Amino acid sequence: MKRVALLGATGSIGRQAIEIVEAHPELELCAAASGSTSLDDVDAALKQVGGDLTELLERAQPDVVLNAVVGFAGIHATLWALERGVDLALANKESLVAAGELALAARARGAGRLLPVDSEHSALHQCLEGRSAEQVDSLVLTGSGGPFRGRTRDELVDAVPDEALAHPTWRMGPKITVDSATLANKGLELIEAHFLFDIPYDRIEVVLQPTSIVHSLVRFRDGATLAHLGYPDMRVPISYALTYPERAATPLPPLDLTSLTLSFESPDVETFHMLALARAAGERGGTYPCAYNAANEVAVAAFLAGRLPFLGIAEVVTDALERADGAPARDVADLVECDRRTRANVGERLPVA
Ligand code: NAD
Ligand code: MG
Repeated sequence: MKRVALLGATGSIGRQAIEIVEAHPELELCAAASGSTSLDDVDAALKQVGGDLTELLERAQPDVVLNAVVGFAGIHATLWALERGVDLALANKESLVAAGELALAARARGAGRLLPVDSEHSALHQCLEGRSAEQVDSLVLTGSGGPFRGRTRDELVDAVPDEALAHPTWRMGPKITVDSATLANKGLELIEAHFLFDIPYDRIEVVLQPTSIVHSLVRFRDGATLAHLGYPDMRVPISYALTYPERAATPLPPLDLTSLTLSFESPDVETFHMLALARAAGERGGTYPCAYNAANEVAVAAFLAGRLPFLGIAEVVTDALERADGAPARDVADLVECDRRTRANVGERLPVA
């Protein structure tokens, strides 16, 4: 029996995770948490709406934590699991991006498993099979390009939340869907890949693959390139992480190759500036990724609330990064402070509602 603590149980990932847990008798929910939404229809031994996630984890003592919280709010749970060597199935990419080196240090001390749930990183994990970074030439992160792929800046001036929320290939929560439209999601994923697989940024490429069938690729030093293909369905990476290394069956049909269209193109980083900003923040290191994430969270919320134009998201984040000192975090309190300060700075500069 594997006892799963599911954090973010009412979200897009959370609901699909419950489906996976229910389909597997060897998985059980020992704890479920949400931010503010009711857990009445969730069957778990311990439940918590709001409050301190690490307290819940202490009480539940899970075998695996599936962190499917959205945003920086997931950071303490990520560090809790890494520090204790409790297996961590990580959907909450923002926590790894923000914690960076501190998360890696906690992971080294805890020596537990860190299994990515993000589809691209699950794909990379499977292609890499634990091989060392020296064998890798480069990682290729794929992305659909989101609903605005191919648009010019002029065509994005008036983009509204409903258009940004209409993702062509994935059904996800609102924050990550807007991140997919700005390419901030690919930016966060670039930093996530760097920390997960210990590959320098100049050896991580981002390529658009509009139908989201190729989930990512690894080029090895011998000239071989391995790709991971599958229908865009998060139940596959969730199941992979929760049942690792069993690769339990899922209800997905086998991939029908003759029905596929596979094409690749480079992202337009001039128009979708959030990707370039993430690369720069990652390369500068320290708490720049933490500041990037915090500024983006505030900007996305403001965009969704109709307080900021779509192109304003990248402007707000550019400004926040210019004002950040980027000083490396000594501990989680420094991260919390960087997150708080960045949010406050961004909040002051946003147009009044
Ligand atoms: P969502 O908005 O649908 O759900 C978020 C969940 O987090 C909800 O259950 C909410 O109640 C909970 N939550 C928010 N704040 C919380 C807090 N302070 N304490 C406890 N719970 C809190 O989001 P989602 O789309 O499921 O995404 C969740 C995470 O997974 C994000 O980090 C996202 O980037 C990542 N992810 C999602 C997908 C996807 O397909 N949805 C794919 C890859 C990665
Ligand atoms: Mg992803």
